[in-house]
Amino acid sequence: MAYVITDSCIKDSLCVDVCPTDCIHPKQDEPGFEEATQLFVDPVECIDCGACVPACTSDSILAVDDVPEDKKPFIERNTAFFKN
Ligand code: SF4
Ligand code: SF4
Repeated sequence: MAYVITDSCIKDSLCVDVCPTDCIHPKQDEPGFEEATQLFVDPVECIDCGACVPACTSDSILAVDDVPEDKKPFIERNTAFFKN
């Protein structure tokens, strides 16, 4: 399992600051931040600690198992971001 960021993300990067494995990207100083519509969780690096969830004020971060049907495409979109 991993955690997934969905399209209500407002890119305030609050989750980035609390993630112990630094697996949420793009960060503000990385290429692609301005163009990104949201941030993404690297499912390979995520250790499922859940620390990012309470940090997010827009409730955009969900455990994979809790992603509702209409948000399921974001599971693949988070993975796809790291395949470049
Ligand atoms: S669950 Fe933990 S490791 Fe995974 S993205 Fe959130 S803070 Fe990072
Ligand atoms: S804390 Fe939530 S809204 Fe902010 S960047 Fe992370 S996922 Fe997006």
